[in-house]
Amino acid sequence: MTIEANDPRRETWIEVPLDSDFPIQNIPFGIIRTKTDKRPRVASRIGDKVIDLKRLFKEDFLSIKIPSGVYFSIDDFDTDSLNNMMRHGKEGTRALRDIISELFRKDGAIKNEELPHFKNLKDRLSSCLIDINEVEVLMPISIGDYTDFYSSEQHAFNVGCLFRDPENALLPNWKHIPVGYHGRSSSILPSGFNFKRPKGQKKPPTSSVPIFGETNLLDFELETAFFTYEGKPLGSSISTSEADEYIFGMALLNDWSARDIQGWEYVPLGPFLGKNFATHISCWIVTLDALEPFRTSGPEQSPEVQRYLEYTGDKHLDINLEVVIKPENGEENIVTRSNFKYMYWNMNQQLAHHTINGCNMRIGDCYGSGTISGPKEGEFGSMLEISWKGTKPFKMKDGSERKFINDYDTVIIRGFSEKDGVRIGFGEVKAKVLPSN
Ligand code: CA
Repeated sequence: MTIEANDPRRETWIEVPLDSDFPIQNIPFGIIRTKTDKRPRVASRIGDKVIDLKRLFKEDFLSIKIPSGVYFSIDDFDTDSLNNMMRHGKEGTRALRDIISELFRKDGAIKNEELPHFKNLKDRLSSCLIDINEVEVLMPISIGDYTDFYSSEQHAFNVGCLFRDPENALLPNWKHIPVGYHGRSSSILPSGFNFKRPKGQKKPPTSSVPIFGETNLLDFELETAFFTYEGKPLGSSISTSEADEYIFGMALLNDWSARDIQGWEYVPLGPFLGKNFATHISCWIVTLDALEPFRTSGPEQSPEVQRYLEYTGDKHLDINLEVVIKPENGEENIVTRSNFKYMYWNMNQQLAHHTINGCNMRIGDCYGSGTISGPKEGEFGSMLEISWKGTKPFKMKDGSERKFINDYDTVIIRGFSEKDGVRIGFGEVKAKVLPSN
């Protein structure tokens, strides 16, 4: 399948900085507002220019008839989440990406300036552009349900080694089931929203009784997230081959974890307050369509998986990932580099597993990949693994050390794919840890 908007030869008449995450082949979606117009609205982005899609709609550029017969309306763009727009499904968002790409590419519709509809085209299109510095980028999606998986083998192995035994690091179910749990969506936050170090119950090994206080073991988890369109009705399942049609796009996700709170509370029902105080996502949703050129094969799965988890074709994605710790007024330190292709279970398998019991997916539901650790040291996706439970502190450029995350540290995750001279990126997700009350 060819997606026109992905053509690597396409160039835009908008100036795009070298190494930008947002060339014309990306066309991500997000929600913005400005100082002069506080009303949130749907936008896209090329280089450092934000495209106001509400304005583009009002200028009559988005009156597209999708093959299914659905038209976009002002409610799809004059709104504070992408959910309305996502109602049109993959057909709709694909058509929208195509027309935006066509409008802003060199030698696109712009050459038809003699036609009445395209009169003063460039001026009218330019009036829809806003400099990124003048824009506040908001929470992109109204997330109903949030599920977090545990699908990186190296991460599961590392955690198994740290808390159990290297001989039996993976639990017996791990290679049969994409393990996951239901998280909380109310505390999923947009990049840049700082938060306080959480407090809770913990039981240090030195204490015979639990104590209460702020977490001493605050950690990040390097993850990606995907978001769904409307799924099937309750009682139906989405197969691995159907999954792509139900996935709108992806973001970077930091699944903050308080390891001491987590360690005391997780038996027997799993993560709770050690996880749900904050989860951050990057705010430009990169469509699965834009990531299609970066498909790659996954690891061989052995033992054989159940029939409903089998899949054909390349369903993994080559996305370079890195995590940075930046102390207050200090330099950035890259603490790990990993890649989304290292996942054992891919998104298609996760969605097939999630729905195999008939559980229904809805517009805007969010699915975390699970911590993405690569096979080598230097590629681990959490401080728990990087510092090997505090035994190997990370040395920072300023001479300090990190076993976990300090107050006033900013943690930044960045990610991008690159091929044929095209770089499709996510920007970043960042947040600063503030002291507890
Ligand atoms: Ca996680």
